[in-house]
Amino acid sequence: MEISHARVLIVDDNEENLQVLGDILAMRDYNVTLATSGRQAFELIDTSAPFDLILLDIQMPIMSGYDVCEQLKRNPLTREIPVIFISAHNEVEDIVRGFEVGGVDYITKPLQIREVLARVENHLVLARQRQALVEKNALIEALRQRDQETFDMLNAMKDQFIYAATHDLKNPLFIITAYLNLLRDLPQVKDHPDGRRYLDGIQDGVTKMQRLITAILDLAQIQTGANIRMTEVDLYALLEAVTQRFRVLAEQAHIDLLFDSLGQAPYRLLADANRLEQLFDNLISNAIKYTPPNGQVHVVLERLPETLLVEVRDSGFGIPEEALPHLFTAFYRVRTPRHGPINGTGLGLAIVKSLVDLHGGQIEVSSIVDQGTTFRVMLPAL
Ligand code: ADP
Repeated sequence: MEISHARVLIVDDNEENLQVLGDILAMRDYNVTLATSGRQAFELIDTSAPFDLILLDIQMPIMSGYDVCEQLKRNPLTREIPVIFISAHNEVEDIVRGFEVGGVDYITKPLQIREVLARVENHLVLARQRQALVEKNALIEALRQRDQETFDMLNAMKDQFIYAATHDLKNPLFIITAYLNLLRDLPQVKDHPDGRRYLDGIQDGVTKMQRLITAILDLAQIQTGANIRMTEVDLYALLEAVTQRFRVLAEQAHIDLLFDSLGQAPYRLLADANRLEQLFDNLISNAIKYTPPNGQVHVVLERLPETLLVEVRDSGFGIPEEALPHLFTAFYRVRTPRHGPINGTGLGLAIVKSLVDLHGGQIEVSSIVDQGTTFRVMLPAL
């Protein structure tokens, strides 16, 4: 590492000492500057190119070496310059104080030439290495940022492509459905022993595809924040209506569906009412879907000082711990023998997460396999 010609400032009120130290350092081709006081040191620092290292006498009148060092460390422009204290005696107190105010090392008088040169060289090398590290880190950060920008751009292109392709699938599906309906009335199909079963198979596939297309387009729309209408919404009334709507489905699945509230009303927030319904629709329908008969789904609304908290708790299959971090990723589905056979798109929770983001909220999930799952949605209250 190239350290000759490094710029070293020596500050000492004793001119003789100053001269001796200057001569010692000049032996190594350092570019040496001398100052006889703290004030002169700061003048030199302000006017000349930055120093690579400062040798600082502790005992000086007006401004002591400690004062000078403290001031250097307060200024972001001089903070990184290593300071080596020159101590009159090998006093522990002096040395400890020197480290406390930001010095990196010390030398004691009478000066030992080889020691002085070794310490100065060490700290110059260290400072250069530190500088190289800072530059490398800055480079890494710049590259990381560039990668992130490229990634974001490609991701946006991918989303656009999926959106366009999905959108274009709608029309062929309408055509398939139209011909399907024509086929249903065709005598050769109607009268064929397997005709109806074949048509139902096609219809089933078409329905699943329509559901997937609707969910993909919906997710894209939510993520762009388009067509959102924020109004004042009463979350208690909204959740009561949503749970009421699911009552029949829950009864058919032999699941006890309960809704409760804690804390004091009002339960008001600023939201898009339809989107908020969709959010809780998804969470409650999942809770019912992934809970076996005779289980329970409990929706609890709580008013906290600044937040409305909704917990959707179920006594269902639960989710393995390793799956939890992926739950809100689009198309992710848990693959256990109990979850596997249940139909779904893997988009419900991605939509839920986007809806929570849209409303400036947060969502958490905790789960114990075979005991149940709790989703906690926190939304800013009015
Ligand atoms: P899906 O359409 O498959 O239900 P979601 O995005 O809504 O997609 O959910 C992702 C996956 O998370 C589901 O496939 C399911 O395995 C799991 N999951 C979601 N909610 C629950 C729940 N309440 N209990 C157990 N597993 C759940």
